[in-house]
Amino acid sequence: MARGKSQFCTWFCTECNAANYITAYNKKSNERILKERSKFCGECRKHVPHRRKDTKKGSGN
Ligand SMILES: [Zn+2]
Repeated sequence: MARGKSQFCTWFCTECNAANYITAYNKKSNERILKERSKFCGECRKHVPHRRKDTKKGSGN
């Protein structure tokens, strides 16, 4: 479906370290993706800065 390579990344809450969001973006637009973004954390029940961590597609674990 998706053309080109999509980079998957997970967003971790900086307070409780929960992996709350998984998103994918095009590597070509990598520069436009922020490394940190405020998102709502269900564990903290408030908006908390989330850190982005890139993940490889198809890897186990
Ligand atoms: Zn949290």
